Amino acid sequence: MKERVAMIGLGQMGAGMAARLTESGFDVLGFDINPARRQELSERQMPVAETLREALAGRGLVLTSLPDPAAARAAWLGPDGLAALADAGSVIIDLSTIDPGTMREIGDAAEKRGLGVVDCPVSGGPGEARNGTMVLIVGGSEAAIARAKPALEKLGPMTARTGGVGTAKAVKLVNNMMSLGNVLVACEAFALGEAAGVEPEKLYEVLSVSGGRSFHFTKRFPKALTGDFDPGFKMELGEKDLALAIDMGRAMHQPTPAASLVREMMALALAQSYRGKDIVALLDMYRKMAERKA
Ligand code: NAD
Repeated sequence: MKERVAMIGLGQMGAGMAARLTESGFDVLGFDINPARRQELSERQMPVAETLREALAGRGLVLTSLPDPAAARAAWLGPDGLAALADAGSVIIDLSTIDPGTMREIGDAAEKRGLGVVDCPVSGGPGEARNGTMVLIVGGSEAAIARAKPALEKLGPMTARTGGVGTAKAVKLVNNMMSLGNVLVACEAFALGEAAGVEPEKLYEVLSVSGGRSFHFTKRFPKALTGDFDPGFKMELGEKDLALAIDMGRAMHQPTPAASLVREMMALALAQSYRGKDIVALLDMYRKMAERKA
C-alpha cells in the first residue's frame, strides 16, 4: 500500500515536492492556506484538502514548506495547529527556511505529543524540488530521520546530519548568507561591466568561466539576461533569510556586517518594484540606478 503523506504549504517549493513524491509512488494530499492556490492546484489535478485537519487525517508523514517563522508557528501551534492535529505516531518534516529558535519551539510542541520531528531545510529552487535534486540539510533524532528517509530520499541527497532539531536551520541560514552575498556582488559587478560598454552576452560568457563566478551566477543570470525576472526564489524570501541570519548573529554576539548590507539592498529592492521577483532582479535595480544618474 502506498505511504500516505500530507504536504502543507503548496507554494513554489511545496507544490513541486508534492508532485515529485506523487510520481515516486506516495499517496500525497496537499493543503495551502490560500484558497486561490488550492483552486489553482486542484485544477492541475493535484489532490488538495480544504482544511488542515482533513489534510492530516490518516497521514503518517507530514511535510511542511512555509514561507517564514510566523507562518510556521501559525501552521504548527495552537489547538488547530498540526502539532495538535497530526495523527498519533506520525513524523513531521519541516522543509522551510526559518530560524533555529522557531524550529525548536514548533518541534518541542510536536515532540510533547510523541510525534517525530525532522528539521530539514533544503538547498535548490523550484526546479530541483520538482525533479528531486535538492540538497537536504538534516537534523533530528535518528529514529525520526529513519522514518522520513524513504520520502526524503526521493527529494534529493541527504547531507551529513547536523545534530538535533534546529541545527539544520542554522546551517541553512549560513548557506543563504553566502548565496545572497554572491548574488548581490554579481549583480553589482555585472551592471558595472555593462556600464563600461561590454555586451551582456559577452560579459556572461567570460564571467561564467572566470574566477568570480558562483553557483547562483551561472544558475540565475542566463534567465535574467533574457529579461525574465520571474521567481525562482522571491526577493522577499531572500530578505527574510538574511534578517533571520542577522538576528541569529545578534543572539550570539557574532557580528554579520556584510549580511546587514546585503539585507538593506534587498529591502531597497522590496521598497521599489521587486516584491515577487527573483533575487537576481537586483541586476535590474542596479541598471536603473545607473540610468537615473545619467
Ligand atoms: P511560496 O511563497 O511560493 O510558498 C509558500 C506557501 O505557503 C504559499 O502558497 C502560502 O499560501 C503557504 N502558506 C502560508 N502559510 C500557511 C499556513 N499556515 N498553512 C498552509 N500554507 C501556508 O514560498 P516557496 O518559494 O515555496 O518557499 C517555501 C519555503 O522554502 C520558504 O521558507 C523559503 O525560504 C524556502 N526555500 C525556497 C527556495 C526557493 O528557491 N523558492 C529554495 C530553498 C528554500
